[in-house]
Amino acid sequence: MTEQREQRIENLVRSVVREFQETARMTGVAAADPAVLDAFRRVPRDEFVPDAGTGQAWEDRALPIGHGQTISQPFVVVLMTQLLELQPDTRVLEIGTGSGYQAALLAELAGEVYSIEVVPELAAAAASRLQRLGYQNVQVRTGNGRDGWPEAAPFDAVIVTAGADSIPPALVEQLRIGGRLVIPVDTRWAGQDLLVCVKQEDGSLSERRALSVIFVPLVGRG
Ligand code: SAH
Repeated sequence: MTEQREQRIENLVRSVVREFQETARMTGVAAADPAVLDAFRRVPRDEFVPDAGTGQAWEDRALPIGHGQTISQPFVVVLMTQLLELQPDTRVLEIGTGSGYQAALLAELAGEVYSIEVVPELAAAAASRLQRLGYQNVQVRTGNGRDGWPEAAPFDAVIVTAGADSIPPALVEQLRIGGRLVIPVDTRWAGQDLLVCVKQEDGSLSERRALSVIFVPLVGRG
């Protein structure tokens, strides 16, 4: 690793840590988890974005990945990951593979990652990228993520990385009791509320709003 690249990563980590502090009252998360930050340092974001040489990969912002889609802002990716409270044996479902970056970060911290992407070209590119980078605990498939991945259910955690108009019922069904769902849901105005939900004994969801976010839309009907 070049010194410059390492420096850029550390600068980005610092800015993510600062954003955790600045949003703590809203997110209910006091600070970035060192284990999540270490995982973040290990995932080569520059392998997941175009124009790798420009250094843009290590700025705290979303970037285009083609097909009108974006790789999310690092702070939001780290926050959503932390909100899932992953353990080494956690089985996670991600909706919206995109570049595969979030899936890689999940794979660093969880046991098994299942990720669904609706654009076949993005799914194929992400799957081969993840394989090339050595992530063996991630499976990617093309499909409508609103239906979830019934054969692999139940999941301990579900993360949706596109803005949903409402919570897709299949994703709740496929979440185990006590499992966590992190999902951006459209507000009446612009953008989404990032919701952190926990599945209750009776099958219902507790919901907490953690942040205002802007994601590309979750397409298709549930
Ligand atoms: N997590 C990605 C970024 C997500 S961008 C990353 O780390 O790079 C949102 C992605 O959700 C886009 O790639 C978009 O094509 C996908 N998407 C939108 N609607 C979807 C649906 N119904 N099912 C699966 N994927 C969907």
